[in-house]
Amino acid sequence: MSRTESVSPSDFIRNIIANDLESNKNEGRVHTRFPPEPNGYLHIGHAKSICLNFGLAAENKGGLCNLRFDDTNPSKEDVEYIESIQSDIRWLGFDWDDRLFYASDYFENLYECAVKLVKKGNAYVCDLSVEEIKQYRGTLKEPGKNSPYRTRSIDENLALFESMRAGEFEDGSCVLRAKIDMSSPNLNMRDPVIYRILEVTHHRTGTRWCIYPTYDFAHCISDSIEGITHSICTLEFEDHRPLYDWILDELGLDCHPQQIEFARLNLSYTVMSKRKLLKLVEEGHVTGWDDPRMPTISGLRRRGYTPESIRNFCERIGVAKRESQVDIALLEHCIREYLNRKAPRMMAVLRPLRVIIDNYPEDHEEELEALNNPEDPSMGTRNVPFSRVLHIEREDFLEDPPKKFFRLAPGREVRLRYAYYITCVGVVRDEQTGEVVELHCVYDPETRGGWSTDGRKVKATLHWVSAAHSFQAEVRLFNHLFTKENPDEENKTQSFKDFLNPISLERLTSCCLEPALAEASPGDIYQFERLGYFCVDSNDSSDRKPVFNRTVTLRDTWAKISKNIPRP
Ligand code: ATP
Ligand code: MG
Repeated sequence: MSRTESVSPSDFIRNIIANDLESNKNEGRVHTRFPPEPNGYLHIGHAKSICLNFGLAAENKGGLCNLRFDDTNPSKEDVEYIESIQSDIRWLGFDWDDRLFYASDYFENLYECAVKLVKKGNAYVCDLSVEEIKQYRGTLKEPGKNSPYRTRSIDENLALFESMRAGEFEDGSCVLRAKIDMSSPNLNMRDPVIYRILEVTHHRTGTRWCIYPTYDFAHCISDSIEGITHSICTLEFEDHRPLYDWILDELGLDCHPQQIEFARLNLSYTVMSKRKLLKLVEEGHVTGWDDPRMPTISGLRRRGYTPESIRNFCERIGVAKRESQVDIALLEHCIREYLNRKAPRMMAVLRPLRVIIDNYPEDHEEELEALNNPEDPSMGTRNVPFSRVLHIEREDFLEDPPKKFFRLAPGREVRLRYAYYITCVGVVRDEQTGEVVELHCVYDPETRGGWSTDGRKVKATLHWVSAAHSFQAEVRLFNHLFTKENPDEENKTQSFKDFLNPISLERLTSCCLEPALAEASPGDIYQFERLGYFCVDSNDSSDRKPVFNRTVTLRDTWAKISKNIPRP
């Protein structure tokens, strides 16, 4: 993959790895993994973790990064998610070669490990109910109480665990727990559950198992089996690290990876929990996981975000140990910056107002040359047809303009981009509603291309399309999905769904687009002059009938915000 970003980033994780390499820990190997649970689509937070894990492997000689599906909770998992996760990671520009693994591949191995703990007297079968286990666990202030089943003999535990596996007990009737310390200040160490009974079909192992390992038990052992050197996860697992280490130590496994925690990405005006995103999908607040308003990778892709812009975003936010919220304007800034260099310019009128050029010959038309990208002359030029009847943006005309409005008004002259100077000489209104429906203008033939020969200046340049040559299309404008900066801040009376933005989607169905846009294919991205960047929707477009999604507007609020951020 191409890496335009030149300086390699530095952060506390990279420092740890640099030190490990210097002391030849792990024989100089760097081996990471990205371990998604296939219970939803990947989101921009996962992208941070992907860029970090795959990035570390790429930066270090011989470095490797595995993709491992953490599929230990079959009740919530689905093959649809497994497929989408793989295609999203590839799309982001990362590759796991032949190192695709599933925690479920290790079920036999994990079972053996559990048996080993039982044999060592380090695990026991407990018949307390879920509710009782919770009560016995105690609180942060009070120590827990030993389960009455804690003193079962090793032989009894072995037999019971075997019966659990054989399907002789009902769901929830018992669990296997690690025997650690019910008075540990760390709640995770108070005899955590490591196996539970779940009579559900697994998407890979079918009905072979009716007991499944918990995340904490499966994760460290899976890391060890794969020879992972640095097991990177988010901060909420910091308190689980002693358990991670305890399990590996008690099992005496050769490979003992180091767990390192970093702060997860939180983004303003959106939510990142898969549980909440699933709710939005299931309840129809969005059209699917790939709705362009979603913070998912597939939503961002459909919206017009590129892999480069997302990787660049992840690099800019960096990796740290403290939770924070990143302004969504930074993400928008990254795609805007990318598209400003790469996206061809086109003209499109979203809310058309008809303009008749009275002094332009009726049966005449001409081709005017327009730059495809003024930022990059190598992108060349194209011809845009011009004729007597045009469309301009409704909001570019005001009959009674306030002081700072420099666009079209009665008697006023403006430039039509790449075309001519025009002056408004008449206004036609609907007799009933009084709404302006048409403007009459005159043009100055001496200003072809949009430049006057006598040095006459105009204060505004408008985009336009020729009515007869343009075609009608649907354009979708998106706004933040939530009205609240942090929709996760729920309270007694309001859930995150109460903060959904009622106008997060605006569909405009009678937009008039420059004819060249009829050729656009799904995924193509353009700058519509003066309006923003727009991407051809890959689900709802058909041949020569593109539907456009607004990726991002032109105005950069991040540039403004970042000026006020104190520099370290
Ligand atoms: P959720 O809490 O929404 O269900 P998760 O953490 O359970 O998310 P996983 O599929 O387990 O989702 O995540 C895979 C990897 O991505 C984990 O290592 C996790 O730490 C990391 N990850 C998840 N969300 C974020 C985030 N917002 N920022 C950074 N990394 C994340
Ligand atoms: Mg998780």
